[in-house]
Amino acid sequence: MIGGAKPPYGCRQHHSLAPTLATRMDEETRLIHAGQTDGLPARTVGPPVQRGSTVLLPNARALYDGTLGYGRAGLAAQFALMDALAELEGATAVQLFPSGLAALTASIMAVLEAGDHLLVVDSVYKPVRQFCDKVLRRFGVTVDYYDPRLDAAGLLALAGPTTRLIVLESPGSLTFEMQDVAAIATAARQRGVLTLIDNTWGAGRLFKPLAHGVGLSVQALTKYVCGHSDVFMGSVATTDAAIGARIAASIQDHGWAVSPDDAYQTLRGLRTLATRLDRHGESGLTVARWLADQPQVLRVLHPALPGDPGHALWSRDFSGACGLFGFVLRPGAPDRVEAFLDALKLFGLGFSWGGFESLAISCDPQLKARTLPVALGGPLMRLHVGLEAVDDLTADLRAALDVYGA
Ligand SMILES: *Cc1c(COP(=O)(O)O)cnc(C)c1O
Repeated sequence: MIGGAKPPYGCRQHHSLAPTLATRMDEETRLIHAGQTDGLPARTVGPPVQRGSTVLLPNARALYDGTLGYGRAGLAAQFALMDALAELEGATAVQLFPSGLAALTASIMAVLEAGDHLLVVDSVYKPVRQFCDKVLRRFGVTVDYYDPRLDAAGLLALAGPTTRLIVLESPGSLTFEMQDVAAIATAARQRGVLTLIDNTWGAGRLFKPLAHGVGLSVQALTKYVCGHSDVFMGSVATTDAAIGARIAASIQDHGWAVSPDDAYQTLRGLRTLATRLDRHGESGLTVARWLADQPQVLRVLHPALPGDPGHALWSRDFSGACGLFGFVLRPGAPDRVEAFLDALKLFGLGFSWGGFESLAISCDPQLKARTLPVALGGPLMRLHVGLEAVDDLTADLRAALDVYGA
Protein backbone atom coordinates (compact mmCIF):
# COMPACT_ATOMS: atom_id res chain seq x y z
CA MET A 1 0.00 0.00 0.00
CA ILE A 2 2.89 2.34 -0.71
CA GLY A 3 0.85 4.63 -2.96
CA GLY A 4 -1.84 5.30 -0.34
CA ALA A 5 0.41 5.68 2.76
CA LYS A 6 0.78 9.06 4.43
CA PRO A 7 4.25 10.51 3.75
CA PRO A 8 6.47 10.34 6.85
CA TYR A 9 6.40 13.37 9.09
CA GLY A 10 8.71 16.08 7.77
CA CYS A 11 8.42 15.07 4.09
CA ARG A 12 7.13 17.78 1.88
CA GLN A 13 6.38 18.25 -1.74
CA HIS A 14 9.00 20.42 -3.42
CA HIS A 15 7.79 23.54 -5.15
CA SER A 16 8.98 23.22 -8.72
CA LEU A 17 9.75 26.04 -11.08
CA ALA A 18 7.21 26.69 -13.78
CA PRO A 19 7.81 24.18 -16.59
CA THR A 20 8.93 26.83 -19.06
CA LEU A 21 11.66 28.01 -16.67
CA ALA A 22 12.70 24.51 -15.71
CA THR A 23 13.16 23.28 -19.23
CA ARG A 24 14.41 26.31 -21.13
CA MET A 25 16.46 28.34 -18.68
CA ASP A 26 20.09 27.92 -17.87
CA GLU A 27 21.00 26.57 -14.45
CA GLU A 28 22.36 30.04 -13.54
CA THR A 29 18.87 31.45 -13.92
CA ARG A 30 17.17 28.55 -12.24
CA LEU A 31 19.44 28.98 -9.19
CA ILE A 32 18.22 32.56 -8.88
CA HIS A 33 14.52 31.79 -9.18
CA ALA A 34 14.07 28.37 -7.58
CA GLY A 35 13.12 28.15 -3.91
CA GLN A 36 11.03 31.29 -3.68
CA THR A 37 8.38 31.46 -1.01
CA ASP A 38 4.77 32.35 -1.57
CA GLY A 39 3.19 32.50 1.85
CA LEU A 40 4.23 30.61 4.94
CA PRO A 41 4.24 26.83 5.32
CA ALA A 42 2.82 27.02 8.88
CA ARG A 43 2.16 29.39 11.78
CA THR A 44 4.73 29.63 14.57
CA VAL A 45 4.46 31.21 18.02
CA GLY A 46 6.84 34.03 17.08
CA PRO A 47 6.48 36.13 13.91
CA PRO A 48 8.31 35.15 10.73
CA VAL A 49 11.69 36.85 10.45
CA GLN A 50 11.38 38.34 7.00
CA ARG A 51 14.82 39.51 5.95
CA GLY A 52 14.03 41.83 3.12
CA SER A 53 15.15 45.11 1.70
CA THR A 54 13.38 44.29 -1.57
CA VAL A 55 9.69 43.60 -1.39
CA LEU A 56 8.27 41.79 -4.42
CA LEU A 57 5.07 43.42 -5.57
CA PRO A 58 2.20 41.39 -7.03
CA ASN A 59 1.71 43.51 -10.16
CA ALA A 60 2.67 46.77 -11.87
CA ARG A 61 -0.15 48.77 -10.32
CA ALA A 62 1.07 47.88 -6.82
CA LEU A 63 4.39 49.67 -7.52
CA TYR A 64 2.76 53.03 -6.93
CA ASP A 65 -0.60 52.41 -5.25
CA GLY A 66 0.62 52.66 -1.66
CA THR A 67 1.17 48.90 -1.16
CA LEU A 68 4.05 48.25 1.26
CA GLY A 69 6.85 48.41 -1.27
CA TYR A 70 10.16 48.41 0.59
CA GLY A 71 11.58 46.61 3.62
CA ARG A 72 12.96 49.63 5.45
CA ALA A 73 9.56 50.45 6.95
CA GLY A 74 9.54 47.01 8.58
CA LEU A 75 8.01 43.64 7.79
CA ALA A 76 6.34 40.91 9.84
CA ALA A 77 8.64 40.88 12.91
CA GLN A 78 8.86 44.67 13.23
CA PHE A 79 5.09 45.05 12.84
CA ALA A 80 4.44 42.36 15.45
CA LEU A 81 6.75 44.17 17.89
CA MET A 82 5.11 47.55 17.22
CA ASP A 83 1.66 46.06 17.85
CA ALA A 84 2.76 44.44 21.11
CA LEU A 85 4.41 47.69 22.27
CA ALA A 86 1.25 49.66 21.46
CA GLU A 87 -0.53 47.27 23.81
CA LEU A 88 2.12 47.75 26.52
CA GLU A 89 2.17 51.55 26.25
CA GLY A 90 -1.55 52.10 25.66
CA ALA A 91 -0.49 53.86 22.44
CA THR A 92 -2.12 54.34 19.07
CA ALA A 93 1.22 54.79 17.27
CA VAL A 94 4.59 53.18 17.99
CA GLN A 95 7.80 53.53 16.01
CA LEU A 96 11.01 51.53 16.36
CA PHE A 97 14.56 52.86 16.27
CA PRO A 98 17.90 51.05 16.15
CA SER A 99 18.74 52.09 19.74
CA GLY A 100 17.17 53.82 22.71
CA LEU A 101 19.34 56.86 22.11
CA ALA A 102 18.23 57.01 18.47
CA ALA A 103 14.58 56.90 19.61
CA LEU A 104 15.23 59.84 21.94
CA THR A 105 17.22 62.00 19.54
CA ALA A 106 14.98 61.26 16.54
CA SER A 107 11.75 62.04 18.38
CA ILE A 108 13.22 65.27 19.79
CA MET A 109 14.33 66.26 16.27
CA ALA A 110 10.95 65.33 14.81
CA VAL A 111 9.00 67.80 16.94
CA LEU A 112 11.40 70.77 17.05
CA GLU A 113 12.09 73.61 14.62
CA ALA A 114 14.93 76.11 14.42
CA GLY A 115 14.36 78.83 17.00
CA ASP A 116 12.60 76.53 19.48
CA HIS A 117 13.56 76.31 23.13
CA LEU A 118 13.83 72.98 24.94
CA LEU A 119 13.74 72.23 28.68
CA VAL A 120 15.60 69.05 29.66
CA VAL A 121 15.76 67.51 33.12
CA ASP A 122 19.28 67.77 34.54
CA SER A 123 19.23 64.07 35.51
CA VAL A 124 18.67 63.07 31.86
CA TYR A 125 20.55 60.10 30.37
CA LYS A 126 23.88 61.74 29.60
CA PRO A 127 24.12 61.07 25.83
CA VAL A 128 20.85 63.03 25.38
CA ARG A 129 22.55 66.05 26.94
CA GLN A 130 25.43 65.63 24.50
CA PHE A 131 23.00 65.50 21.60
CA CYS A 132 21.21 68.67 22.77
CA ASP A 133 24.44 70.56 23.38
CA LYS A 134 26.30 69.44 20.27
CA VAL A 135 23.66 68.81 17.60
CA LEU A 136 20.52 70.78 18.48
CA ARG A 137 22.44 73.98 19.16
CA ARG A 138 23.87 73.81 15.64
CA PHE A 139 20.31 73.93 14.33
CA GLY A 140 19.35 76.99 16.32
CA VAL A 141 17.54 75.21 19.15
CA THR A 142 18.30 76.54 22.65
CA VAL A 143 18.43 74.21 25.63
CA ASP A 144 18.13 74.72 29.38
CA TYR A 145 18.52 72.04 32.01
CA TYR A 146 16.14 72.09 34.97
CA ASP A 147 16.28 70.69 38.48
CA PRO A 148 14.50 67.30 38.59
CA ARG A 149 12.97 68.29 41.94
CA LEU A 150 11.07 71.28 40.47
CA ASP A 151 7.29 71.02 40.67
CA ALA A 152 5.07 71.75 37.67
CA ALA A 153 4.65 75.48 38.46
CA GLY A 154 8.38 75.96 39.06
CA LEU A 155 9.22 74.15 35.86
CA LEU A 156 6.68 75.98 33.67
CA ALA A 157 8.02 79.26 35.07
CA LEU A 158 11.18 78.45 33.08
CA ALA A 159 9.20 78.12 29.84
CA GLY A 160 9.17 81.10 27.46
CA PRO A 161 7.24 81.90 24.30
CA THR A 162 9.49 79.66 22.18
CA THR A 163 9.53 76.67 24.54
CA ARG A 164 8.24 73.78 22.47
CA LEU A 165 9.23 70.64 24.40
CA ILE A 166 9.95 69.46 27.96
CA VAL A 167 12.04 66.30 28.35
CA LEU A 168 11.44 64.30 31.54
CA GLU A 169 13.05 61.23 33.05
CA SER A 170 11.61 59.78 36.23
CA PRO A 171 13.33 58.34 38.15
CA GLY A 172 16.30 60.32 36.80
CA SER A 173 19.44 58.62 35.53
CA LEU A 174 21.99 57.85 38.29
CA THR A 175 20.36 60.01 40.99
CA PHE A 176 16.80 58.58 40.80
CA GLU A 177 14.81 61.76 41.54
CA MET A 178 11.08 61.41 40.91
CA GLN A 179 9.06 63.97 38.95
CA ASP A 180 5.35 64.71 39.22
CA VAL A 181 4.85 63.62 35.63
CA ALA A 182 1.06 64.03 35.51
CA ALA A 183 1.15 67.58 36.91
CA ILE A 184 3.97 68.60 34.57
CA ALA A 185 2.24 67.04 31.54
CA THR A 186 -1.03 68.85 32.35
CA ALA A 187 0.61 72.22 32.99
CA ALA A 188 2.71 71.90 29.82
CA ARG A 189 -0.32 71.00 27.70
CA GLN A 190 -2.16 74.10 28.99
CA ARG A 191 0.78 76.17 27.77
CA GLY A 192 0.90 74.38 24.41
CA VAL A 193 4.22 72.73 25.29
CA LEU A 194 4.85 69.09 24.35
CA THR A 195 6.23 66.55 26.84
CA LEU A 196 8.52 63.60 26.18
CA ILE A 197 9.64 61.12 28.84
CA ASP A 198 12.46 58.59 28.88
CA ASN A 199 10.58 55.73 30.57
CA THR A 200 13.34 53.11 30.38
CA TRP A 201 13.29 52.52 34.17
CA GLY A 202 9.54 51.84 34.05
CA ALA A 203 10.01 49.65 30.94
CA GLY A 204 6.50 50.53 29.76
CA ARG A 205 5.21 48.25 32.49
CA LEU A 206 5.76 49.88 35.90
CA PHE A 207 4.66 53.33 34.78
CA LYS A 208 2.30 54.34 31.97
CA PRO A 209 3.33 57.82 30.75
CA LEU A 210 0.64 58.16 28.09
CA ALA A 211 -2.11 57.51 30.66
CA HIS A 212 -0.56 60.35 32.72
CA GLY A 213 -0.90 62.80 29.82
CA VAL A 214 2.66 62.71 28.45
CA GLY A 215 2.91 63.35 24.70
CA LEU A 216 5.73 60.95 23.82
CA SER A 217 6.79 57.87 25.77
CA VAL A 218 10.27 56.73 24.78
CA GLN A 219 12.20 53.76 26.05
CA ALA A 220 15.42 51.92 25.44
CA LEU A 221 14.06 48.45 24.70
CA THR A 222 17.73 47.47 24.90
CA LYS A 223 17.27 47.32 28.66
CA TYR A 224 14.36 45.37 30.22
CA VAL A 225 12.20 44.62 27.20
CA CYS A 226 15.01 42.84 25.39
CA GLY A 227 16.26 41.69 28.79
CA HIS A 228 19.29 39.70 27.69
CA SER A 229 21.94 42.36 27.05
CA ASP A 230 22.35 41.46 23.40
CA VAL A 231 20.13 43.73 21.28
CA PHE A 232 19.89 47.50 20.70
CA MET A 233 16.39 48.86 20.11
CA GLY A 234 14.33 51.90 21.04
CA SER A 235 10.68 52.84 20.75
CA VAL A 236 8.55 55.97 20.69
CA ALA A 237 4.87 55.66 21.60
CA THR A 238 2.10 58.24 21.46
CA THR A 239 -1.68 58.64 21.41
CA ASP A 240 -1.42 61.90 19.44
CA ALA A 241 -2.12 61.16 15.77
CA ALA A 242 -0.41 64.32 14.48
CA ILE A 243 2.76 63.68 16.48
CA GLY A 244 2.70 60.02 15.51
CA ALA A 245 2.53 61.02 11.86
CA ARG A 246 5.44 63.43 12.33
CA ILE A 247 7.62 60.72 13.83
CA ALA A 248 6.65 58.26 11.11
CA ALA A 249 7.51 60.87 8.47
CA SER A 250 10.85 61.59 10.10
CA ILE A 251 11.70 57.88 10.01
CA GLN A 252 11.10 57.98 6.28
CA ASP A 253 12.99 61.25 5.86
CA HIS A 254 16.04 60.07 7.79
CA GLY A 255 16.02 56.46 6.67
CA TRP A 256 15.93 54.76 10.08
CA ALA A 257 15.41 51.00 9.98
CA VAL A 258 15.66 48.12 12.46
CA SER A 259 16.55 44.57 11.61
CA PRO A 260 13.90 41.84 11.70
CA ASP A 261 16.19 39.63 13.80
CA ASP A 262 16.51 42.37 16.43
CA ALA A 263 12.75 42.95 16.39
CA TYR A 264 12.20 39.23 16.84
CA GLN A 265 14.56 39.06 19.82
CA THR A 266 12.99 42.14 21.39
CA LEU A 267 9.50 40.70 21.04
CA ARG A 268 10.73 37.47 22.57
CA GLY A 269 12.00 39.47 25.55
CA LEU A 270 8.70 41.32 25.86
CA ARG A 271 6.88 38.01 26.40
CA THR A 272 8.60 37.53 29.78
CA LEU A 273 8.97 41.21 30.75
CA ALA A 274 6.33 41.18 33.50
CA THR A 275 7.72 38.06 35.19
CA ARG A 276 11.32 39.22 35.02
CA LEU A 277 10.50 42.71 36.28
CA ASP A 278 8.70 41.27 39.32
CA ARG A 279 11.84 39.39 40.28
CA HIS A 280 14.25 42.26 39.47
CA GLY A 281 12.12 44.60 41.56
CA GLU A 282 11.80 42.28 44.52
CA SER A 283 15.49 41.33 44.60
CA GLY A 284 16.50 44.96 44.02
CA LEU A 285 14.51 46.11 47.03
CA THR A 286 15.94 43.32 49.18
CA VAL A 287 19.48 44.35 48.22
CA ALA A 288 18.64 48.05 48.68
CA ARG A 289 17.28 47.47 52.20
CA TRP A 290 20.28 45.32 53.05
CA LEU A 291 22.69 48.01 51.80
CA ALA A 292 20.94 50.68 53.89
CA ASP A 293 21.98 48.72 57.01
CA GLN A 294 25.67 48.43 56.12
CA PRO A 295 28.12 50.68 57.97
CA GLN A 296 29.99 51.66 54.78
CA VAL A 297 26.79 52.94 53.14
CA LEU A 298 25.65 56.52 53.73
CA ARG A 299 22.43 56.48 51.73
CA VAL A 300 20.45 54.38 49.27
CA LEU A 301 18.76 56.11 46.31
CA HIS A 302 15.70 54.00 45.53
CA PRO A 303 12.25 55.58 45.16
CA ALA A 304 10.50 52.41 46.36
CA LEU A 305 12.15 52.76 49.80
CA PRO A 306 9.87 54.59 52.25
CA GLY A 307 12.55 57.11 53.31
CA ASP A 308 13.37 58.19 49.76
CA PRO A 309 12.40 61.77 48.78
CA GLY A 310 10.60 60.43 45.69
CA HIS A 311 8.71 57.71 47.54
CA ALA A 312 5.31 59.43 47.63
CA LEU A 313 5.32 60.03 43.85
CA TRP A 314 6.59 56.53 43.17
CA SER A 315 3.84 55.01 45.35
CA ARG A 316 1.21 57.11 43.61
CA ASP A 317 2.32 56.46 40.02
CA PHE A 318 4.27 53.19 39.78
CA SER A 319 3.01 49.62 40.03
CA GLY A 320 6.44 48.30 41.03
CA ALA A 321 10.19 48.79 40.86
CA CYS A 322 12.88 47.48 38.55
CA GLY A 323 16.32 46.31 39.68
CA LEU A 324 18.21 49.57 39.12
CA PHE A 325 19.11 51.93 41.98
CA GLY A 326 21.96 53.89 43.49
CA PHE A 327 23.77 54.09 46.79
CA VAL A 328 26.25 56.49 48.32
CA LEU A 329 29.32 55.18 50.11
CA ARG A 330 30.71 56.95 53.14
CA PRO A 331 33.72 58.97 51.95
CA GLY A 332 36.90 56.89 51.88
CA ALA A 333 40.46 57.05 50.54
CA PRO A 334 40.57 57.94 46.79
CA ASP A 335 41.49 54.43 45.64
CA ARG A 336 38.73 52.68 47.61
CA VAL A 337 35.90 53.01 45.07
CA GLU A 338 37.89 51.14 42.46
CA ALA A 339 38.95 48.61 45.09
CA PHE A 340 35.27 48.05 45.97
CA LEU A 341 34.27 47.51 42.32
CA ASP A 342 37.27 45.30 41.58
CA ALA A 343 36.41 43.11 44.59
CA LEU A 344 32.96 42.27 43.18
CA LYS A 345 32.78 38.79 41.67
CA LEU A 346 29.12 38.38 40.69
CA PHE A 347 28.33 41.97 39.76
CA GLY A 348 29.87 42.68 36.38
CA LEU A 349 31.31 46.13 35.71
CA GLY A 350 29.26 47.47 32.85
CA PHE A 351 27.22 50.51 31.82
CA SER A 352 24.04 48.93 30.57
CA TRP A 353 21.27 47.29 32.60
CA GLY A 354 17.96 45.47 32.26
CA GLY A 355 19.51 42.08 31.42
CA PHE A 356 19.33 38.98 33.62
CA GLU A 357 22.74 39.67 35.15
CA SER A 358 23.82 41.97 37.97
CA LEU A 359 26.01 44.98 37.19
CA ALA A 360 27.74 47.77 39.09
CA ILE A 361 29.32 51.10 38.15
CA SER A 362 30.68 54.16 39.89
CA CYS A 363 28.88 57.36 38.82
CA ASP A 364 30.83 60.42 39.95
CA PRO A 365 32.65 61.10 36.63
CA GLN A 366 29.24 61.28 34.88
CA LEU A 367 27.80 63.70 37.46
CA LYS A 368 30.41 66.29 36.45
CA ALA A 369 28.48 66.89 33.22
CA ARG A 370 25.44 68.18 35.13
CA THR A 371 24.45 71.82 35.13
CA LEU A 372 23.33 71.82 38.77
CA PRO A 373 25.74 70.58 41.44
CA VAL A 374 24.93 67.20 43.00
CA ALA A 375 25.98 66.92 46.67
CA LEU A 376 25.44 63.42 47.96
CA GLY A 377 28.09 63.34 50.71
CA GLY A 378 30.17 60.49 49.22
CA PRO A 379 30.87 58.46 46.09
CA LEU A 380 27.74 57.45 44.15
CA MET A 381 27.46 53.86 42.95
CA ARG A 382 24.78 52.29 40.76
CA LEU A 383 23.67 48.67 40.89
CA HIS A 384 21.57 46.63 38.54
CA VAL A 385 20.20 43.66 40.47
CA GLY A 386 19.80 40.70 38.15
CA LEU A 387 18.04 37.35 38.50
CA GLU A 388 20.72 35.60 40.58
CA ALA A 389 19.84 34.34 44.08
CA VAL A 390 19.73 37.41 46.27
CA ASP A 391 21.82 35.92 49.11
CA ASP A 392 24.67 35.35 46.70
CA LEU A 393 24.45 39.00 45.63
CA THR A 394 24.52 40.37 49.18
CA ALA A 395 27.44 38.04 50.00
CA ASP A 396 29.31 39.47 47.01
CA LEU A 397 28.56 43.03 48.15
CA ARG A 398 29.50 42.16 51.74
CA ALA A 399 32.96 41.01 50.65
CA ALA A 400 33.47 44.10 48.47
CA LEU A 401 32.28 46.49 51.21
CA ASP A 402 34.81 44.85 53.55
CA VAL A 403 37.48 45.68 50.99
CA TYR A 404 36.13 49.25 50.74
CA GLY A 405 36.15 49.69 54.48
CA ALA A 406 39.51 47.94 55.00
C1 LIG B 1 20.58 52.90 28.07
C2 LIG B 1 19.66 54.04 28.13
C3 LIG B 1 19.29 54.72 26.97
C4 LIG B 1 19.88 54.43 25.62
O1 LIG B 1 19.59 53.17 25.13
P1 LIG B 1 20.51 52.52 23.99
O2 LIG B 1 19.65 51.48 23.42
O3 LIG B 1 21.72 52.00 24.68
O4 LIG B 1 20.85 53.60 23.02
C5 LIG B 1 18.40 55.76 27.09
N1 LIG B 1 17.91 56.11 28.28
C6 LIG B 1 18.24 55.49 29.40
C7 LIG B 1 17.66 55.95 30.70
C8 LIG B 1 19.14 54.44 29.38
O5 LIG B 1 19.52 53.86 30.51
